[in-house]
Amino acid sequence: TEETLVLVKPDGVARGLTGAILARIEAKGYALVDIALVEPERDTLERHYAEHAGKPFYEPLLEFMMSGPSVAIRLAGNRVIEGFRSLAGTTDPTTAAPGTIRGDFGRDWGLAVQQNLVHGSDSPESAARELEIWFG
Ligand code: ATP
Repeated sequence: TEETLVLVKPDGVARGLTGAILARIEAKGYALVDIALVEPERDTLERHYAEHAGKPFYEPLLEFMMSGPSVAIRLAGNRVIEGFRSLAGTTDPTTAAPGTIRGDFGRDWGLAVQQNLVHGSDSPESAARELEIWFG
């Protein structure tokens, strides 16, 4: 088994989609090991998004991630890192496939790439790093 960090980002929480997203995660059979409503400090987000520092979307992304609470989930399952990213769909909801979280719930509007509802770690190394940042 494997663990990953999933975030329901502020847009997902604000739109009342936490339950719908959790339902898909649970239906897949993944285990909720830990779950918390969090309002991250800037420092936490700088660590989480370190690879994007300096990119044009970096500051707006941090502002967005501080705009309201997120739900942080420590999720376990067989190949859950790849599996959750498959459930989430591609980064840009405007082109994410139907049947995925971003494809079904993501809005087709200007900020869609930023406000794409969820985050999932992209590798075992990222998962270990991100779980330490969000859950210690
Ligand atoms: P995540 O890591 O959040 O699961 P991802 O791996 O699909 O998403 P990354 O390329 O790591 O996407 O980007 C991290 C986050 O930064 C995206 O989820 C999105 O919120 C934001 N982002 C990425 N690219 C852009 C962009 N071009 N414009 C605005 N926001 C972006």
